[in-house]
Amino acid sequence: MAECYWQKEIETASREQIREWQSERLVKTVKHVYDNVELYRKRMDEAGVKPEDIKSVDDLKKLPFTYKQDLRDAYPYGLFAVPMSEVLRLHASSGTTGKQIVVGYTKHDLEVWDDIAARQLYAVGADENDFIHVSYGYGLFTGGFGLHGGAGRIGATAIPVSSGNTDRQITILQDFGSTVLCCTPSYAMYIAEQIKAKGIDPKTLPLKAGIFGAEPWTEEMRRQIEEMLDIKAYDVYGLTEIMGPCVSYECSEQKGMHVNEDHFIIETINPETGEVLPQGEQGELVFTCITKECCPFIRYRTRDIGIINTEPCECGRTFVRMSKPMGRSDDMMIIRGVNVFPSQIETVLLRQGYLPNYKIIVDRVNNTDTLEVQVEMTEDMFSDTVTKVKEYEKALESELRSLLGIGADVKLVAPNSIERSMGKAVRVVDKRKLIGG
Ligand code: ADP
Ligand code: ZN
Repeated sequence: MAECYWQKEIETASREQIREWQSERLVKTVKHVYDNVELYRKRMDEAGVKPEDIKSVDDLKKLPFTYKQDLRDAYPYGLFAVPMSEVLRLHASSGTTGKQIVVGYTKHDLEVWDDIAARQLYAVGADENDFIHVSYGYGLFTGGFGLHGGAGRIGATAIPVSSGNTDRQITILQDFGSTVLCCTPSYAMYIAEQIKAKGIDPKTLPLKAGIFGAEPWTEEMRRQIEEMLDIKAYDVYGLTEIMGPCVSYECSEQKGMHVNEDHFIIETINPETGEVLPQGEQGELVFTCITKECCPFIRYRTRDIGIINTEPCECGRTFVRMSKPMGRSDDMMIIRGVNVFPSQIETVLLRQGYLPNYKIIVDRVNNTDTLEVQVEMTEDMFSDTVTKVKEYEKALESELRSLLGIGADVKLVAPNSIERSMGKAVRVVDKRKLIGG
């Protein structure tokens, strides 16, 4: 299949051209926020930086960072850089971590968002003949409206199902001709399981691609979903503060997500020192919005951990790629002094043939951290003897120990006993936090 681009001249522009756009737009944005948002004026004055000091992308590192806490402190509209009369839409984060934050969009901001979502849809091979089945939640969460806007932009048929009511989702997948499914990977997995449980052959569905993001997921999970739904599954990344879904998007190569660099500048930094890292080194992802009018956050600290890849991509796009974030720095668990990401545990489980239906329970007993992993047995294991189940548990424990470097207790539980998520999955229960530890 020939590669399709929504905005070819932009998506395949030369690196010099992209740099030029970035410099010009950064200068303009810095002036805009300095003139219109008190926090930026104050921070820049404190740091001794004037808008005139910012002449190109090279000067980006002179600018102070922006943090999620700044949005909470300015709740609701304190960081808006335009009058409310210019704000057409509000969205709020899904509130996975703490108090929700609010962002606004001008007409221009919404148009940019539609365009970047359109780029993602074209990259998965969709066009005006496609049916875009959106099962991300519609509402204050950015997921639903983001992909919906992209579908409208390319002239495809949007099916705004929103999340939930899985039986109805499946009926619609069968009857409405959905060709592209958009939802969280955990919900895609659940839909896939239900399709299997109903004895429906996925080959009979017109579905060809999936756009799954908003939460971390592993390559193993991607392969499972692709197989179970008989589609190609694409990753998409975004966050409310920067835009919503499609800040970066995956192409047919599926080796990292292209960052929409004409609208956002990406950096990786050492989260402890704030120092900018050379490209290719793993660090915290930091984004600067350079075309937004209402909420153009400067050097926003995402707390997502990833790597930037500047190598040219086979697909022809020239935007740099970011790796799948392995999780947020605040998802990282420190257990007995060792850093553990839920995604590492997921990798082990899926490699051993389990489905991604698991829960991680961390606690502290007699001053020692404990790690318990509950995972659902597969249907065929369910009829096995207790001794056999114990053997499976031991096997998983030994795999986990060799990958994580610390021991975990594995408990195999009955199929379908772990609660499913229709949006972002909650995998970790850290009881240490409940007792203020
Ligand atoms: P909340 O912060 O309440 O979860 P958002 O919907 O804005 O609200 O979540 C954005 C976050 O979701 C990102 O910072 C990142 O941690 C996570 N995320 C989004 N897309 C992906 C993805 N493709 N892979 C991994 N994590 C993702
Ligand atoms: Zn590519």
